Amino acid sequence: MNKPADTAALKQLDRAHHLHPFTDLHAYAEQGGRIVNRAEHIYIHDTDGNTMLDGMSGLWCCNLGYSQKQIVEAVYRQLQELPYYNNFFKCSNQPAVELATMLSEVTPGQFKHVFFTNSGSEANDTNIRLVHRYYDLLGKPEKKLIISRKNAYHGSTIAAGSLGGMAPMHKQVIGLDYIHHINQPHWFENGGDMSPEDYGVQVARELEAKIDELGEDKVAAFIAEPVQGAGGVIIPPSTYWPEVQRICDERDILLIADEVICGFGRTGKWWGSETYGMKPHLMTFAKAVTNGYMPLGGVMVGDKVADVLLAGGGEFAHGLTYSGHPAACAAGIATLNVLKETNIIETSATEVAPHFQRRLREFESHPVVGQVRGQGMFAAVELVKDKGSRERLAPESAGAVFCRDSANKNGLMVRQTGDAMIMAPPLVCSTGEIDILIEKLGIALDETA
Ligand code: PLP
Repeated sequence: MNKPADTAALKQLDRAHHLHPFTDLHAYAEQGGRIVNRAEHIYIHDTDGNTMLDGMSGLWCCNLGYSQKQIVEAVYRQLQELPYYNNFFKCSNQPAVELATMLSEVTPGQFKHVFFTNSGSEANDTNIRLVHRYYDLLGKPEKKLIISRKNAYHGSTIAAGSLGGMAPMHKQVIGLDYIHHINQPHWFENGGDMSPEDYGVQVARELEAKIDELGEDKVAAFIAEPVQGAGGVIIPPSTYWPEVQRICDERDILLIADEVICGFGRTGKWWGSETYGMKPHLMTFAKAVTNGYMPLGGVMVGDKVADVLLAGGGEFAHGLTYSGHPAACAAGIATLNVLKETNIIETSATEVAPHFQRRLREFESHPVVGQVRGQGMFAAVELVKDKGSRERLAPESAGAVFCRDSANKNGLMVRQTGDAMIMAPPLVCSTGEIDILIEKLGIALDETA
């Protein structure tokens, strides 16, 4: 295809040929969208000449921003040396080995093994395979049920979409029948007059009730994001995770932490599990493992599961052509090196994140803001019509959509989920850049009020 001569032609071809993810396809084919053609540091640029501060790190993945030459060069070098070979049939490649080793060093002590995928969705599918295989090898084949949470997002394949609890996705596909959902710990929406602490314990105990309902001998695992991200940055009450951990330990249920967003520093420590004191048996990662520059995901497999898998005979009949792709792994190695060399997780947690969280809380007195919540470089501003009753701002989230569009128009990329404006700026933001984000968000909130 010849390169389109101008932006208008490119947009026309986009509308004519390109089906976009999570998009109203009919509306997009008529109206089209923005074509992003360049990015540096924390800014993206489009073909219409707009520059936007990226308050979302792409899709929660470019934690180090867009100018990490070390990662780009590592991929280029690797493509010249070994652009591809698979890890099936008793083969391996050096970047996959090195990245597996590095990941086992930066994850909590129980993790020494990794299974690579291309994405978070595939990694969560892999979790199901691993859990089922684990119990089969233990001689407990009836332990197959998995409990997840409503409004969770675990990806978009059939299995990962079934694990997720987002109603619109379940409307479009029949989910897997061995997956069951309990409520999310969303105090602002469901806590009523209870204290967050009491509510946290109550909602955690729904897990225990669900295990009793389904039968402990049938329930295999509980999967959850340490902080529900795409569902609206739902920060759990402090009592929630300790109670869930107690239940999993006492009832012999594997705990799977989906760290696809929380991992690699988003909540202030390397892993959301560390921030919230969770001790998962399996851990999903993707996105920021390569700073979003190459597709890569995987599952960290804890000793309890790995020991059984390694002792059991027979093939683990699961894998992807690109599991442990050398160029993707080279991007992962370079990303981990940058994270370690710059100490950016600690710097952002101690210097930038407190400023971000403090400045965001200035909006608590804004007429359309019901709650500001966040942890580290991760936050949501929940919009309401009435602060006392917490009445929603507008039916079908029209108010929040307006607010997001207004922010985008003013040069700030943020997302909207339900009535919440959600943000995950790159960890490399300076405090001055956080101030610019706050100023732009403030304009959008004023325009929405
Ligand atoms: N898990 C979580 C927590 C996510 O937020 C996402 C994507 O946003 C996924 C899994 C799916 O990852 P991917 O889009 O790479 O398949």
